[in-house]
Amino acid sequence: MDIYSTLTRNKEEFKTINKNRVNLFVCGPTVYDDAHIGHGRTYISFDTIKRYLDYKGYAVFYIQNITDIDDKIIKRSKESGIPAADIAKKFEKRYIEDMHKLNVNSVNLFARATDHIDEIIDQIQRLIDKGFAYESEDGVYFEIDKFPEFGKLSNRNIEELESHRNIADVNKKNQNDFALWKKREGVDEPVWNSPWGDGRPGWHIEDTAITEYYFGPQYDVHGGGLDLIFPHHEAEITQMEAVSGKSPMVKFWLHTGFLNVSGEKMSKSLNNFITIRDLLENYEADTFRFFVLSTHYRSPIDFSKDSLHQSEKSLEKIKKFYTQLLDVDGVCESEMEALKISKKEFFESMDDDFNTPKAIASIFELISSSKKEDLSNNDKVAIRKFLDDVSYILGIDFTLKDVESSSCDLFDLILKVRGELRSIKQYDLSDKIRDDLQKLGYEIND
Ligand code: AMP
Repeated sequence: MDIYSTLTRNKEEFKTINKNRVNLFVCGPTVYDDAHIGHGRTYISFDTIKRYLDYKGYAVFYIQNITDIDDKIIKRSKESGIPAADIAKKFEKRYIEDMHKLNVNSVNLFARATDHIDEIIDQIQRLIDKGFAYESEDGVYFEIDKFPEFGKLSNRNIEELESHRNIADVNKKNQNDFALWKKREGVDEPVWNSPWGDGRPGWHIEDTAITEYYFGPQYDVHGGGLDLIFPHHEAEITQMEAVSGKSPMVKFWLHTGFLNVSGEKMSKSLNNFITIRDLLENYEADTFRFFVLSTHYRSPIDFSKDSLHQSEKSLEKIKKFYTQLLDVDGVCESEMEALKISKKEFFESMDDDFNTPKAIASIFELISSSKKEDLSNNDKVAIRKFLDDVSYILGIDFTLKDVESSSCDLFDLILKVRGELRSIKQYDLSDKIRDDLQKLGYEIND
């Protein structure tokens, strides 16, 4: 299996640190408001990646952090008069509910920043002791000049960044030094006690404190949206490699493309967002998952209702096909060429940097080939087994909702019409209906 890593800008053969174990970390949300479908895009992508790794037999430990202390949460708290901790608790709960509705249920541990303050303080202290960080008037900073490799993930250099700054921050030695600890600014904000006085952690340090605690200084895969490459992930590498002296902190850096609206990233600040909750009032979660996975995780997606409708129709084709394979008895053995080809293409595509759109295309090829063939029961059972695996990997249920009740209604109608035909002695027609239904596998017993 080959996976593209932002660090090397190449597809690399996937090799894990510990045999078949995979330690996977994905940046979680800042919980100050409801998640939008752009967040949904990123988390569905990583859920599918986790599912595929599970399917391939890896023992994956998937952690997502929850940023439950941050400027945005404090701002919301000041605006609303609700304590920051209550805001964070409320939106964390709603976020997890949203994820369950999207069938994103592969995260093994949600790790809150505020549950890891001891680990954060400990990591900052070690950075100070090793000479990488310093205390100033308003906090503790990482001294960027002490880590010459800063910029290796995003391909930027320090000089390039410095030229863009106009207002100098007197608390920093270099304007690109970033905060590890922020000292208390006002009375109405949450603080924790530390060797540098009351305060709260910077954003970047929570992730490395959490991953070091659970995974150690080096692990397999780190994910997040494209916008996190700089400065967030760059800062993570800087902190962790400085404190441990080990490199690389992570070999496989995976970044999802944005979900855009009319070419612009969906975001709270641009006010062009649709919350996951609102979307799910009108659309099935399966439809949105299918829509997301029809594009490669690294590519942008332009969101529109039209393209969502298109996905709905395409998914319905798979569901209808799959439903015909239910209630068929046989053994899971088939020599069917089209099935072999489709399976091969599906798994080769997934092994090629999780190419879900290509993998999905192989399912449609199987559907059109199957229509041209006379399928035996064994073929049907074998296709069903394959589609069950696909359904697990994509996290999409292929059974048609309400199929039983809608088909019951339809049968009632057909039987009623046939009964009426018999009552007016139209036996030719009523027998034809009986025979045609028999060909479809249904028996009418008068
Ligand atoms: P945030 O809470 O804003 O830090 O975002 C949480 C995760 O969602 C990050 O990995 C972001 O990169 C990702 N994300 C935010 N907006 C979008 C978007 N429009 N498209 C894809 N991913 C996004």
